[in-house]
Amino acid sequence: MTTTAKLDMDTRMQRPLAGKTAIVTGSTSGIGLGIARSLAEAGAHIVLNGLGDQDEIKRTRDMLQESSGVTVAFDGANLMDPVDTAAMVERSERLFGRVDILVNNAGIQHVSPIEEFPAAKWDAIIALDLSAVFHATKAAFKGMKERKFGRIINVASAHGLVASPFKSAYVAAKHGVVGLTKVTALEGAEFNVTANAICPGYVWTPLVEKQIDDQAKAHKISREQVIRDVLLINQPNKKFATVEEMGALAVFLSSDMAASITGTALPVDGGWTAH
Ligand code: NAD
Repeated sequence: MTTTAKLDMDTRMQRPLAGKTAIVTGSTSGIGLGIARSLAEAGAHIVLNGLGDQDEIKRTRDMLQESSGVTVAFDGANLMDPVDTAAMVERSERLFGRVDILVNNAGIQHVSPIEEFPAAKWDAIIALDLSAVFHATKAAFKGMKERKFGRIINVASAHGLVASPFKSAYVAAKHGVVGLTKVTALEGAEFNVTANAICPGYVWTPLVEKQIDDQAKAHKISREQVIRDVLLINQPNKKFATVEEMGALAVFLSSDMAASITGTALPVDGGWTAH
């Protein structure tokens, strides 16, 4: 192998997504931000999306751009709105010329027994955790199929595979995402467009932090008891997964080496769904 070819290979191995472009929804925080960081470090230009303080978002964006050397944009689309969701994809295509990787990650949660579950919370969770995945996929799919390259990564949950009490809307939405992922995989297969769902167990993020208080109220127990006896009760390794683990998996699923992996729901849950 010539020195130049070896250098090219080294660069490809270190920056396997060099020149690709990715939208990561809900990437102003938690898992989405972790995935955006990993994709950027692997060389992909990034569109961040999500809610939050605009100054803080700008700082995050500037830091990520500086540390990774890729272009990092921000799109503040509210994914509760199907029109804004599709427009986010169109704006990203205009900005970068194409969208190669779509990570549907934005999600919310509400914990309450069914008979007390507010109808408005049900509607909001279905709109963001499930319908927005469809609307963003629909907007990105045509271009991906035409260009014969696409990677759709849906951040579902272990709750896309199994259920827990008090999470009716979330479990319904995440099971829906796993089903939608399979359909997307089948329709994209001949076009080198893959679709996979990542199914994390508990990952330490602001979403989980909020649940601790909600669960403490629902079960009438302390925060420490919630962590030990509720959240990690089914996670055999008794550890929260990390956003870096989610990022590493997203990088691999986005790479050429994952071309044959499609339609899967991959648990990253310390053995939870092996029960
Ligand atoms: P988080 O609360 O830290 O982040 C959620 C992100 O979604 C934020 O960037 C927020 O601004 C964004 N968002 C919320 N509403 C939005 C809207 N209307 N439009 C656009 N963006 C919006 O949560 P997280 O824990 O990082 O969760 C990310 C995903 O991972 C979710 O889909 C969640 O269901 C899934 N998940 C999380 C865990 C966990 O343990 N943290 C486990 C399994 C699955």
